[in-house]
Amino acid sequence: MAASSPEDVARKLGYASPTDLILHLPLRYEDETRITPLRDARLGDTVQVEGVVEHSEIEFKPRRQLVVQVKEGDARLYVRLLHFYPSQVALLKPGTRVRLMGEVRPGFFGAEMVHPQFRVVRETTPLPDTLTPIYPAVAALSQYAIRKAVAVALAEADLSDPLPIPAGFPAPFPSFAEALKALHHPPPDADLASLEGRDTPAWRRLKFDELLAQQLSLALAARQRQTLHAIPLPEAGGLHERMLAALPFAMTSAQQRALREITHDLARPHPMNRLLQGDVGSGKTLVAALAVLPALAAGYQVAVMAPTEILAEQLFFKFQEWLQPLGIEVAWLAAALKGKAKKAALAGIADGSVRVAVGTHALFQNDVSFHNLALVVVDEQHRFGVAQRLALRAKGAQVAREESPEASAIGDSQPHLLMMSATPIPRSLAMSYYADLDVSVIDQLPPGRTPIATRTINANRRDEVIARLRDYCLSGAQAYWVCPLVEESDKLQLRAAEESHTELVALLPELNIGLVHGRMKSDEKAAVMSAFKAGDLHLLVATTVIEVGVDVPNAALMVIEHAERYGLAQLHQLRGRVGRGARESSCVLLYETPLSDSARQRLKIIHDNNDGFAIARADLQLRGPGEFLGARQSGQQLLRFADPVADADLLELARDCAADLLERHPEGVRRHLARWLPRGLDLFRV
Ligand code: ADP
Ligand code: MG
Repeated sequence: MAASSPEDVARKLGYASPTDLILHLPLRYEDETRITPLRDARLGDTVQVEGVVEHSEIEFKPRRQLVVQVKEGDARLYVRLLHFYPSQVALLKPGTRVRLMGEVRPGFFGAEMVHPQFRVVRETTPLPDTLTPIYPAVAALSQYAIRKAVAVALAEADLSDPLPIPAGFPAPFPSFAEALKALHHPPPDADLASLEGRDTPAWRRLKFDELLAQQLSLALAARQRQTLHAIPLPEAGGLHERMLAALPFAMTSAQQRALREITHDLARPHPMNRLLQGDVGSGKTLVAALAVLPALAAGYQVAVMAPTEILAEQLFFKFQEWLQPLGIEVAWLAAALKGKAKKAALAGIADGSVRVAVGTHALFQNDVSFHNLALVVVDEQHRFGVAQRLALRAKGAQVAREESPEASAIGDSQPHLLMMSATPIPRSLAMSYYADLDVSVIDQLPPGRTPIATRTINANRRDEVIARLRDYCLSGAQAYWVCPLVEESDKLQLRAAEESHTELVALLPELNIGLVHGRMKSDEKAAVMSAFKAGDLHLLVATTVIEVGVDVPNAALMVIEHAERYGLAQLHQLRGRVGRGARESSCVLLYETPLSDSARQRLKIIHDNNDGFAIARADLQLRGPGEFLGARQSGQQLLRFADPVADADLLELARDCAADLLERHPEGVRRHLARWLPRGLDLFRV
């Protein structure tokens, strides 16, 4: 293969600069440091041997191949190449000394190697004195090219330690240079199992460095936020009391505590960055509605965003129900909104007559300009990808700057941000990815909820389930029928939903059955949802569009088809649509056999647990942090080497020393971050 420059290699591997290659670490190693005498090479061993080509011939039976006979002393070995170039035939001519690495197998004539690695050597060609690294590669690059480029990078880069050894790190703590040497070029006696298992002092050092970079950048982001301005919103001017007085229930103490934490943040002249976490049905919407009141009392605007239209609409109805009696105008904005209605909403948002705008991402499109936006609320924030969250934040800042004279009067002002999620983030992950986020937790459900009974039922008993469903709905309750998830295709999922709907309509003629799915026009969707809400439909056949936020207390039974296809978080969210009223609720998980191991585990977890935190923990264990956070989905790799769960001890150490390092070694911190996060820090700030 043609020689590639270190720049080429770096670029092909996706790095910005050749220096980044120092952290392109091997996947595994080969031992080319010793040569096994040919006569000692045993069948089944992967060994390096050396010998002289005695005979070489292209044979045609049973197919075209190059067969080379290599001799060392009295011992012989056949080398068989099924694909070869003329240049290789020329190289492997009799008399040539070759070094071969491969597995010794029994062949027709005796011991042989099929497609070994080989190179031509002289008797004096030295053996490498370190193990040979095998790097993660891409198609257009040979291991040889990568090895060379990495070696150049290691020789040229500054490998000194920019920061002191952290107090409390369990010895040994190799220097950065030692760690890299031990990983790129380990000595022949290195413990390969530990190396490849990424469990050596060198690996721990690098994992620590990576986690430290993350913690430092998070700490920096948090500091930076303290230098940003936001409009302080200290008073709700009696609006709280008026809204609460109109409610048929009292807030739970967990809701009150969360609200206190939020209002405390809002009163400060720095942007709030708070996550309101609470299990499905814990009443986050009410807290959010109360949280926007100080902004409204001070004359500012609020944007409330949800990931789907159905959800946005639900939020809109709730906000309208609660805020309109206070004389506050709420507008709805989604991509589907067209014509006059859209114009009116945009005009109201621009001139400030709309005080609360509820909607989907459409709220942050270019055609929307706010008059004086002071607070952004994002519901189900985990459904937004990393990139979307970054874009949202950027847009929020821009909106505040451009559109608010009040804001520009106090300089670089940003809106406060309140995010909500029912997906609890286990502590280790929160520490690692969301350290720049303040978290409020609603750890209590409103009183009077009946626990949901969950049953797993083999789909071959579907008829029984449908018969029970009939009796249930005729008794005056309502139910959901959730159609199978078809990951690959919206279209197929839609067809599945339509088929289930047709079938249920035929089987249950005495019931009113509606259908809702993601491809419906928004007014159609809204019509079906409000018919269901009003009790005009007994049964709602739905795709996962109802996964989050939908709130119909009289619906107390849910059947989920092909439950084995769903992830844990999704099942928990779906199930959370029932159990919202006083009625006894149940969730039936229909599964098809055969079940995979992981599907069986998921169903058991969801069957045994009602608590979102327990489910999230189990989920994290099943899937690992990357998938859990959906990082893979967004194409972003958050950590390359460390695992915030498995390496929780290193993570805690890194977090504990970050502030002190920032204080006392700012220049070292800068160098450390440049080494580990050459592309900047944005990823860690979302
Ligand atoms: P989630 O946290 O899943 O978003 P919601 O905000 O949709 O939950 O609330 C679920 C239901 O509980 C709604 O019908 C809401 O009006 C009701 N609710 C909220 N707070 C209380 C409370 N303190 N007491 C009784 N019901 C409440
Ligand atoms: Mg909600």
